[in-house]
Amino acid sequence: VAKRLEKFKTTIFTQMSMLANKHGAINLGQGFPNFDGPEFVKEAAIQAIRDGKNQYARGCGVPDLNLAIADRFKKDTGLVVDPEKEVTVTTGCTEAIAATMLGLINPGDEVILFAPFYDSYEATLSMAGAKIKCITLRPPNFAVPIEELKSTISKSTRAILINTPHNPTGKMFTREELDTIASLCIENDVLAFADEVYDKLSFDMDHISIASLPGMFERTVTMNSLGKTFSLTGWKIGWAIAPPHLTWGVRQAHSFLTFATCTPMQWATAAALRAPESYFVELKRDYMAKRAILVEGLKAVGFKVFPSSGTYFVVVDHTPFGLENDVAFCEYLIKEVGVVAIPTSVFYLNPEEGKNLVRFTFCKDEETLRAAVERMKERL
Ligand code: GLN
Repeated sequence: VAKRLEKFKTTIFTQMSMLANKHGAINLGQGFPNFDGPEFVKEAAIQAIRDGKNQYARGCGVPDLNLAIADRFKKDTGLVVDPEKEVTVTTGCTEAIAATMLGLINPGDEVILFAPFYDSYEATLSMAGAKIKCITLRPPNFAVPIEELKSTISKSTRAILINTPHNPTGKMFTREELDTIASLCIENDVLAFADEVYDKLSFDMDHISIASLPGMFERTVTMNSLGKTFSLTGWKIGWAIAPPHLTWGVRQAHSFLTFATCTPMQWATAAALRAPESYFVELKRDYMAKRAILVEGLKAVGFKVFPSSGTYFVVVDHTPFGLENDVAFCEYLIKEVGVVAIPTSVFYLNPEEGKNLVRFTFCKDEETLRAAVERMKERL
């Protein structure tokens, strides 16, 4: 394997899902719903296939989808974007992240990440030859340490990555935090890369896109996807919204990574994004009920649970159970209890920082969540 990828192992999500299958454990690890996406979206995909929408799509996206993405973005943020020049459809948000890093970052450029961070940021930055600067968000509230952020930004800082709502912690960046990050970006001529795939799963406060803050659109790439919002994580449709000068870089990388994205699923995604607002309201309501079941359950089991305001994840401190670190705890949980969680140490540059924390997901039906809680109550 090439040097730039040597340090990365099989992703923790793949490892944990394999173990879940092997041990017949209940999988609250990898974030994928165990229920299906809406019928009208699946029907739209079947219809598109029947209608012969099966050859390569336009590289930057099927025009109708670019338009639907721009319309949705306007509803969500108030920003009016040009669907032809400022929207790029990618193969999942994961490709949008890779295309952003590879298309806009030069070797040696510094990029600031907030730890814990989603694993693909580090790997794609490593592919781009970037230098990673990491700032740790600490429990209980995972607030942004502003002074540390100020002193980390330098002349070589090219971008800051903001993931809100935040995987794995469920933290949502507050308006104050985003305002401060925005002014620092503007003062220091730094880009913002915003991964907002959980924006429709914001429960305790309103989601704010950093692109919508004054002076930020022109320096922000906003990334999102279909998967979480429509419980169709296997479809791998994502997108990046950015002003033309940044879109150019994203599209150049996208052209040579995947060239274009699955055509019929793009048509169906356009239909999905035009869902009535009631769809989004119900999604949020359902997830809040699931969150309550898992959070109350985990507290009853004896974990210290950190509040999750968004995403479908919740992070807990496992130390009341006496295992040496997060990996040992997750192994014990799978083998002796029959439940899968994700150790968080993989989300830090320094794994030590995550050793007390594990992540559970609540994107499962209520029966599964209750069964997992029961197992933990009995066997932990
Ligand atoms: N985003 C999902 C999670 O955090 C996992 C996606 C993947 O398996 N790479 O669980």
